[in-house]
Amino acid sequence: MAKIKGLACKECGREYPVEPIHVCEFCFGPLEVVYDYEDIKKNISREKIENGPKSLWRYIDLLPVENPTVGLSAGFTPLIKAENLGKELGLNNLYIKDDSVNHPTLSFKDRVVAVALSKAKEFGFDTAACASTGNLANSVSALAASSGMKCYVFIPANLETNKIIGSLVFDPVVVAVDGNYDDVNRLSSEIANEFGWAFVNINVRPYYSEGSKTLAFEVAEQLGWKAPDAVVAPLASGSLYTKIWKGFNELKTVGLINDNPPRMYGAQAAGCSPIYQAFKEGRDWIKPVKPDTIAKSIAIGNPADGPYAVKVAKESNGDMEIATNEEIIEGIKLLAKTEGIFTETAGGTTIAVLKKFAEKGVFDPDEVVVAYITGNGYKTMEVLEGHLKSPIHIKPSLHEFKEKVIGQVVKG
Ligand SMILES: *Cc1c(COP(=O)(O)O)cnc(C)c1O
Ligand SMILES: [Zn+2]
Repeated sequence: MAKIKGLACKECGREYPVEPIHVCEFCFGPLEVVYDYEDIKKNISREKIENGPKSLWRYIDLLPVENPTVGLSAGFTPLIKAENLGKELGLNNLYIKDDSVNHPTLSFKDRVVAVALSKAKEFGFDTAACASTGNLANSVSALAASSGMKCYVFIPANLETNKIIGSLVFDPVVVAVDGNYDDVNRLSSEIANEFGWAFVNINVRPYYSEGSKTLAFEVAEQLGWKAPDAVVAPLASGSLYTKIWKGFNELKTVGLINDNPPRMYGAQAAGCSPIYQAFKEGRDWIKPVKPDTIAKSIAIGNPADGPYAVKVAKESNGDMEIATNEEIIEGIKLLAKTEGIFTETAGGTTIAVLKKFAEKGVFDPDEVVVAYITGNGYKTMEVLEGHLKSPIHIKPSLHEFKEKVIGQVVKG
């Protein structure tokens, strides 16, 4: 396996073979995939990628998989020039990377699960599992179904109804745990140790998290092999955010782009902002919090990659901001009415934070700014109840239409 050197501990650097392991035995640091960039550089080119499959697998040279078998249509989502929202925010080159239409389950999680379960199959696992805030369970359930794997998903019991149905329909075992995501994650780690399952975000996490790099690869290719000046992305465990950064850096390392990687702006919900707090207080460690926010998909109180996300914000000259429940809903509505894109609460958080940074003037008006929209609004519609206008109710009569809708007084 020439492109991969192995795994290495992010803390002490100790090296490990490519196996379904995720923690350093010596310092308990997380393990990460290490590539042989010299070797990759010899094999990779823009042309080769452009002629590859119309999915994230066009970047296989920078992914830890030899033989993709799961999630073959994941990725390759639109990058949309947001003219209307840009005008509203005073940004002439604002783009939306729209993973709300990812395949097959309408969130960015289809990327990471495609990579994790393809790798799990290479390792010989027959059972997929995860600890989830909602979208991950949807994706693992769907991709386990299509690839013939058995499946167990663990979720907090109080998730949005449509996120639960969106897992159940694929017929996995859904375990709803009384507690928040951090409780679910702790229990899942214990289960992962006892059962020989591929927990995509636990024992297969080093491979899983690599899938998020494709959010950087696609944006660079879609911009004509350029890096944006700045990006805004949501933070839950902090994995997505740190891997977008890793992705842009890799493209530069292997010579596919010449630009420096972007400034990384992170978005958290005010009701669950442990990474934002650490960044603002200049800490490199995370003080866990108890989540209380409508943005359930990003409500992780004890984020595994929090310290690395703080580092990325600093290293990239970026920043972090938070959004209240009201601001999250306003963010959802703003993106919908300007760009016709219906995102969920995580996307609402991202747009709310994008707006705050734009108003603070951190972006030059001509800079290329990309906001990552990671999930679909049709899964969290209940949060909008009471926040939208009502339909205008009429009888099937032209008279009533003119009177009640057009507001014309019709003469009798
Ligand atoms: C999981 C998720 C994220 C972020 O996940 P990380 O744990 O930070 O990688 C962002 N948006 C949505 C919609 C998600 O489901
Ligand atoms: Zn270590």
